Amino acid sequence: MTDYDLYINGKYVSGTGKRIPVINPTTGEMTGTLSDATAEEVAQAVTAADEAFRGAWSSLALSERGRMLHRLADAIEDRAEDLAIAEVQDNGKVYREMIAQLKAVPRWYRYFGGLADKLHGQTVSMDKESLFTYTLKEPLGVIGCITPWNSPILLGAWKFAPALAAGNTIVVKPSEHASVGTVELAKCFEEAGFPPGVFNVVTGEGVTAGAALVDHPLVSKVSFTGSGAAGQHIASRASARLAEVGLELGGKSPNILFSDCNKDAAISGILAGIFAAAGQTCVAGSRAIVHRDIYDEVVERLLERTQTIRMGDPLDPETEIGPIANLPQLEKVKEYVEIAQAEGATLLTGGKAVDSQGYFYRPTIFGDVKPDMRIVREEVFGPVLTIMPFETDDEAIELANDTDYGLAAGLWTNDVSRSHYVSRRLKAGTVWVNTYRAIAHNMPFGGYKKSGLGRENGIEAINDFLRTKSVWVETEPSTGDPFALKV
Ligand code: NAD
Repeated sequence: MTDYDLYINGKYVSGTGKRIPVINPTTGEMTGTLSDATAEEVAQAVTAADEAFRGAWSSLALSERGRMLHRLADAIEDRAEDLAIAEVQDNGKVYREMIAQLKAVPRWYRYFGGLADKLHGQTVSMDKESLFTYTLKEPLGVIGCITPWNSPILLGAWKFAPALAAGNTIVVKPSEHASVGTVELAKCFEEAGFPPGVFNVVTGEGVTAGAALVDHPLVSKVSFTGSGAAGQHIASRASARLAEVGLELGGKSPNILFSDCNKDAAISGILAGIFAAAGQTCVAGSRAIVHRDIYDEVVERLLERTQTIRMGDPLDPETEIGPIANLPQLEKVKEYVEIAQAEGATLLTGGKAVDSQGYFYRPTIFGDVKPDMRIVREEVFGPVLTIMPFETDDEAIELANDTDYGLAAGLWTNDVSRSHYVSRRLKAGTVWVNTYRAIAHNMPFGGYKKSGLGRENGIEAINDFLRTKSVWVETEPSTGDPFALKV
């Protein structure tokens, strides 16, 4: 049993709030506790971050800021294995997925670290030649980051790396269901030599520690990844005090198989989309939309492969699916399966939890679904797929776009014209053609519609953590008319 601390102003401190159990979803056993940070402790973390923002972090040479992010990347690389295991024990994702994520995370810090001394405004030429006009790019201040339980260190890096490179400081509130990895990550910041206060971790529940962070007047921006309901609530609280908000929310992503596709690759793409990570990814391809000519064959092959998926201990290299990450999420998956059956969808496979200690749920597929069913419209965030046929390209596009969400979409075709034509018409922030669930530090990511606001990853992401100042310098003595706008 380990009691995990908060990390405030460069020190691990034991919190004074109530303790939250840390539960390993593979066994259902409690392995430790976290602190539910009090509003006072959250305020201490924000104050430390604000002091670091105005002091040690701002006064650091830009190239040194970049070097520090590179040292952080090295420290994460050295601890990748321990951090990956901490995440597996927190959220039940298979080790080979988590170690791949942890090995990739340093790229985010190196990429944005490389940008730290390449940020610049521009000079702007005016009609009036005597004016010297330019813009400056300035950091926002303290960024309050709120992260979900599915991939805390990777999704955290999408925020921390650009925010720090731009000169901001961080207070992060990870999910109460998976905080250990983020608490342990703070050790990497220590090893890299970050000044105290630049990176702080406050654990706790959303409605307590999370709300205190969102409401704190010194938090300039709230950068949130999580569910739509929490995101909308947080956005309204933050906007009430005119703080900026970035939102990475959920999805109900379509995965479209055209009749000319490579069926082996496409069926593997459906599996990757919905059953990898037991469907607990924001980009889960939870709606398969399959051309009528290949529908029966695809369903048959998909069912065959789904029934042989190896479920078990996520630390075992043979395991393909681990448990659902926590008990409330397992209950949510069960509830959606009941809803689907009550709505008249046909259960083709799965549909039940595994009778074991941990939170395992069988990969589940529903056929005979209608576009207005809740199982087709709402995010389950679990291993539950719906599958429906289509006949024309227009119909496929219409079905794919018939959703409140717009995070991602997959399409499988060997027709190059169709792949570009359909990609342009899909209302989704990411479109994958003949692949699925691919991400990179240098490729923008974010949602259309109710899937979010703003973009993470790629060079432009750093602009979400900067603001522009315009400077006007009159280089010639001039008095002018004091009562007219100089326009
Ligand atoms: P969640 O919304 O329940 O929780 C996310 C975080 O918000 C947690 O840290 C939680 O404590 C905090 N929170 C909840 N209510 C809050 C409040 N009132 N004030 C402040 N903080 C609050 O989401 P989850 O269940 O942890 O994660 C799953 C969701 O995240 C899914 O909807 C999934 O699609 C989404 N997600 C999106 C992305 C993306 O990049 N778009 C990535 C991963 C997950």
